[in-house]
Amino acid sequence: MTIQEFDINTSDVYPVTDSRQILSPTRNGAADAVFFAIQGEHHDGHRFISELYAKNVRQFVVETAALTPDLRHELAQLTDAHIWEVGSSLKTLQELAARHRGQFDIPVVGITGSNGKTIVKEWLAQVLSPDFLIQKSPKSYNSQLGVPLSVWPLNEEHTLGIFEAGISKPDEMQALQSIIQPTIGIFTNIGSAHDEGFRSCKQKVAEKLRLFRKSDTLIYRKSYAEIDEEIYLLLKAVNPTIRLIGWSTEPTAEMPILFTNQTSGTKISLRWEGSAYSVWVPFSDPASLENATHVLLASLVLGVTRPAVLQERFARLRPVSMRLELKEGIHRNLLIDDTYNNDLAGLSIALNFLNQQDSRRQKVLVLSDLLETGMKPAELYPAIASMLAEKEVGQLVGVGPEISQYQAVFTVPTRFYSATEELLQSGYLNDLSDSVILVKGARRFSFETVVNRFVQKSNRTVLEINLDALTHNLNFYRNKIGPKTRIMVMVKAFAYGSGSAEVASLLQFHRVDYLAVAYADEGVALRQNGIKLPIMVMNPALQSFRQLIDYQLEPEIYSFGILDEWMRFLKTEPDQNANREAVFSIPPIHIKLDTGMHRLGFLPDEITRLGELLTSNPNLRVATVFSHLAGSDEAEHTPFSHEQYRQFVDGAAQLEATLGYAPLRHLLNSAGIVRLPEFKLDMVRLGIGLYGVEVSRLEPQQVQTVGTLKTVISQIKALKAGETVGYSRRGVLTQDARIATLAIGYADGYDRRLGNGVGQVWVNGVLCPTVGSICMDMTMIDITNAQAEEGDEAILFGQPVSLTDLADRIGTIPYEILTGVSERVKRVFYRE
Ligand SMILES: *Cc1c(COP(=O)(O)O)cnc(C)c1O
Repeated sequence: MTIQEFDINTSDVYPVTDSRQILSPTRNGAADAVFFAIQGEHHDGHRFISELYAKNVRQFVVETAALTPDLRHELAQLTDAHIWEVGSSLKTLQELAARHRGQFDIPVVGITGSNGKTIVKEWLAQVLSPDFLIQKSPKSYNSQLGVPLSVWPLNEEHTLGIFEAGISKPDEMQALQSIIQPTIGIFTNIGSAHDEGFRSCKQKVAEKLRLFRKSDTLIYRKSYAEIDEEIYLLLKAVNPTIRLIGWSTEPTAEMPILFTNQTSGTKISLRWEGSAYSVWVPFSDPASLENATHVLLASLVLGVTRPAVLQERFARLRPVSMRLELKEGIHRNLLIDDTYNNDLAGLSIALNFLNQQDSRRQKVLVLSDLLETGMKPAELYPAIASMLAEKEVGQLVGVGPEISQYQAVFTVPTRFYSATEELLQSGYLNDLSDSVILVKGARRFSFETVVNRFVQKSNRTVLEINLDALTHNLNFYRNKIGPKTRIMVMVKAFAYGSGSAEVASLLQFHRVDYLAVAYADEGVALRQNGIKLPIMVMNPALQSFRQLIDYQLEPEIYSFGILDEWMRFLKTEPDQNANREAVFSIPPIHIKLDTGMHRLGFLPDEITRLGELLTSNPNLRVATVFSHLAGSDEAEHTPFSHEQYRQFVDGAAQLEATLGYAPLRHLLNSAGIVRLPEFKLDMVRLGIGLYGVEVSRLEPQQVQTVGTLKTVISQIKALKAGETVGYSRRGVLTQDARIATLAIGYADGYDRRLGNGVGQVWVNGVLCPTVGSICMDMTMIDITNAQAEEGDEAILFGQPVSLTDLADRIGTIPYEILTGVSERVKRVFYRE
């Protein structure tokens, strides 16, 4: 059907595209939601229609190609639902968003470019929020999907829209242009990001410029010659009347801008409509100055022109962090720090994140007045109240006069304080324990002080875990195996050092099929943290059998010895088990076959007897049968892997014939998924790849770095040639040098073999070699070539220092370094 036939009013409903997240629940609940089922590369929204129906969603947009006979049958049962069948749900969503946008005659700023889009958008909103009611993209929602979702909430109250548009392929901007319909454009800059999708930089610029086909004004930096040229060549041809504001730091330019360095900041000077302007900003790096200049010009175009007002607002600009950080706090609390964003969509995202955490902890939200939402308080706080009820927040702590005034609308337990200081003095925070606490406040409430109250001190050395990268990697491997093969994720060894409970929560959210741990204790810890996925335990021991039953953990059975123990356990404790029968069932088992790894598992000639034992005992149900490849990461072992595969499928077939049913079969680990995808069978076991290391080295660019190990410089000293550094005087200086002492040592997991120049540490953009031996708690590095002060950050591995490279330097593998990061190093989880 065509979009004219949609009998919905876009103002009365809100779109949902992810069954797990309700992005913008500003309205009154599920009845007003329209679910757009999208068939993606690794996710098919059509699978969740019944689930959403159960949650009271009644309007669905579905794609003809996804409608199997089964699904048609399922949909036919939903008699009171509206179902629209279309060719592409995404296209339909875009067209409806475009139609919606068309109803509003207000200024709309559209921002594109390679870098800085989100910062420019956020700063512009900060500067303009006192004068306008603004609808803007949440975070960096700038994709084919993110843009329609950002624009849809526009309503009659808004007086300004600010949206960003990002593209990664040719022909994507057309749709975004028709949804945003920007009246004012900002083209931030052009760089090499996403180059792979385009033939040339020219083509990329040309595509981006389509966003401004119908705009009245375009702000850009004239010194980007590629942008400037294409504007005159292409844009002017289709939009001859557009007003171009091409600024430059060249004094001879039409719109000259002057940056003057000042203490702790920079003065930006320009002339606008005959008057001289000068605003101070608290930055001096080139990227921030470029972004601030775009924001200043856009503010002027929008009529905010009083010098004193601009000066005051620009002086308050702060770096924009899109991060949502999860930290361990005192009194066993977990803390989500989102003190940077404070609009409604940001709150919704943060609440979803809160909800993904341990389901057993009390959920507490500390929230200030929200000042940049583009909504009136009388609508805003009821909308927040319904979000909190839906997300099952256990306690709201409201801070500020405005939120306090709306106490009555909240249905969850609340307490209110008129100012941050009052909250801190109340002592309430000290009483919280075993909770997950989301802290979210407008800048002027200085919630950093609240966060500091909770976070354990001495976080000098941290392992930062990028949860977005983890998700990206999961999707990469999911994509490799396709929708028909299941995925088990290995979270043994504290999730390869990354933090089991947090990683497992994310995996549960992304609906992986199975988790696996090495020991029962690890599985128990996951259950205690609210993980409900099936969990396989690879090394079950007699002493842990009770736990396996109590916590529904599924043992790997790899020998007759362990099988015998398990069977006897099930028999000899009939009383206890009988009592539990009502609540607990006996978990199924996983059979490990040894096909050449020669570690654990049944050998081929043992399978007949194994089959007999299994069939003779009705308490034993085999969930899966699996084996492990010995050399999937190296090409030279590929023939051996083929032989293992053959042995495995034979063994599994033999077992299946005896059992009379077909357990799931799985063989591949991370490297195997990339190197030998044809052996994916029913399930794969993903490990190291999820954590950001592509060990087959065939597609290393496809995974993103997950963990970054960071510390700080404790002390710096200038030493003379000939002096020595550290124990046994091993670090002999051949020339004068600046030596920094870092707060990390081998007891934290920084391997001692990395001493004496073998390891390199990233300090302010420079790789600095280690000097002397690594100590237990400290490491010395040569920072002669870096600009650094005491207290500065040092990166041991992560984004700029590759883990694989580090491992190669000391003749080990990334696995060892990752799992070696000691538990005393705090893990900090974040999402962009
Ligand atoms: C650890 C482990 C994996 C995962 O291996 P990666 O190389 O990290 O992908 C798979 N299967 C078994 C049996 C394992 O012990």
